Amino acid sequence: MPKKRKSPTGSCLNLLALKSVKQTYRPTLEIQRLLEIFHHMVNDCIEIGISYDAASLKRLSVLSWPQRRKYDCPSYYKASAVSRAAGILASRKKSLRRGIPTKNPYSLRPQITAYQGFRVKDGTLRVPIGKRSFEYVPLTSHTASILLDPAVMVRSFTLTPTSLSLCISKEVPEVECTEAIAVDRNLRNLTVGNDNRVIQYDLSDTVRIVQTTVDVVGSFRRNDARIRTKIASKYGLRRRNRIQHVLHNVTKRIVALAFEGKQGIVLENIEGIRRLYRKGNGQNKKYRGRMNGWSFWEAQRQIEYKARWVGLPVVRLSRRETRGSSLSCPRCGERLQSDKKLRRKLWCGECRMVMDRDVVAAINLARRGRVRFARSRPPIVREAQGGAAEAVKGNPTPTVILRADALK
Ligand SMILES: [Zn+2]
Repeated sequence: MPKKRKSPTGSCLNLLALKSVKQTYRPTLEIQRLLEIFHHMVNDCIEIGISYDAASLKRLSVLSWPQRRKYDCPSYYKASAVSRAAGILASRKKSLRRGIPTKNPYSLRPQITAYQGFRVKDGTLRVPIGKRSFEYVPLTSHTASILLDPAVMVRSFTLTPTSLSLCISKEVPEVECTEAIAVDRNLRNLTVGNDNRVIQYDLSDTVRIVQTTVDVVGSFRRNDARIRTKIASKYGLRRRNRIQHVLHNVTKRIVALAFEGKQGIVLENIEGIRRLYRKGNGQNKKYRGRMNGWSFWEAQRQIEYKARWVGLPVVRLSRRETRGSSLSCPRCGERLQSDKKLRRKLWCGECRMVMDRDVVAAINLARRGRVRFARSRPPIVREAQGGAAEAVKGNPTPTVILRADALK
């Protein structure tokens, strides 16, 4: 959740937005040595944490200090190693509490994270490696261009053998919104809008990408689990990157349009939706595979961080508020009828009209979200009290529906 803080100059609320920039680089020998040291320190801490059954940062740092002090590296890394180990141990504890069988964790890939001691200057990242000695990682033009913004602060860096990731933050003034739009996530589209306008972004490409991956991985016939794992992970990575790219194009446009129209973004809560597509629910294998390959969370993640970066407020509806979003007609409030023949369309007996299920959901969610906005922001309160909170009988509203292709 975003932190709100008062800016030192005015009374305007500022949001603290975070995101990361990632690039590739070539590690020098010194950085490789540091990566190894950090890796060993993390694993030492994990081992100590398990043997003493300690997962809290404080206890872990006290217990592991005798071990860590022997390493030859700047002290910031010793501190960050504990916090990384604490994170790994905390997630193990969570799994155990939930009854998921866990092995003893072990940090496999070398990696360094540090919050202090580094410096970004003249297009390079200066990484301390010892007393008064530094290594310089050149930043790509993309990374450097993002850091040009004087409001952007670099909070930490993470190095792996191939990539550098900078966590950056920015304080942005919150946009005063006059409207709300909701995002209805579906397998084949993202439907975004409110009473006035609904835009449907086509995502059928993502379904195709998932299916291609399944076909490609399934076409390998060699009976060797090691090779199969290798191939599956390679194509899985490719699948993730391609889907992320399609979603990136769409979410970027959604946030840009919302920012232009000063519209707050409402997100539904579809947690636990995977439970609907489990074995034994009477669905066929293909359908289940398709639904479980649906990356609905990624779309939400992208919309949230992009909106926050420009200062747009985002409201997450609770599960109760999300429930039944496509049950009632947004024009008259009558209960909608579904039919197998109508597929993803719904029929309103009162309006004598067929409506798109996703559009109905987006409109209803936007109205519910507007009520939530109204609790904290005065301009929308008046509108919401005027009767737009939920569809009222005899209050027809025409909606413009646009369709957009994800790739264009
Ligand atoms: Zn109706």
